Amino acid sequence: MCISSRLPVTEKQYIDPVVGPVVIRRNPRARRISLRVNRRKEVSLTVPWLVPVRTGLAFLESRREWILATLAKVKVQEETPSQDIEMLRAKAKAQLPPRLSELADKHGFQYRQVFIKNNRSNWGSCSVRGNINLNLRLVTLPEDLQDYVMLHELCHLKQMNHGPKFHALLESVCPGHAALQKELRKYKIR
Ligand SMILES: [Zn+2]
Repeated sequence: MCISSRLPVTEKQYIDPVVGPVVIRRNPRARRISLRVNRRKEVSLTVPWLVPVRTGLAFLESRREWILATLAKVKVQEETPSQDIEMLRAKAKAQLPPRLSELADKHGFQYRQVFIKNNRSNWGSCSVRGNINLNLRLVTLPEDLQDYVMLHELCHLKQMNHGPKFHALLESVCPGHAALQKELRKYKIR
């Protein structure tokens, strides 16, 4: 066994004046100095045991531009999905409650409040208190499926189950609902 394999890997926080926090890792198995930026935007500098830390820091300084450019790219990757969600939420808030209210009026349902939710478990739900929750991704579905989900939840105000009475009620307000239900299964909540 060579001596280096028995030495531990050590880590130290270092604050670079330009790029910010950097983890300096002394790794006995490392053969050369290397820099890494991970998906959580953590910068790490690996320095082999036999190389002085100042040599590693000089390498870090020579790569500052690359680190900053890489950090900026990671940031873009992180921000895009949440921006999409915010846009979707705004669209959902503008479109879904008025349509739900219209469908409820048309078919004689009364709900308390409607909430737009960001979840991956359902397109909609109805609480025992008479509130309707709608998934913000509902706005990405075809309109007949949006209506189907809303009418389905409205029917739960009167029938809190999926029994024959529920399906008869749903069929009366949404003819051909079984086909729509089947169609909806093709869409995954993402
Ligand atoms: Zn249901």
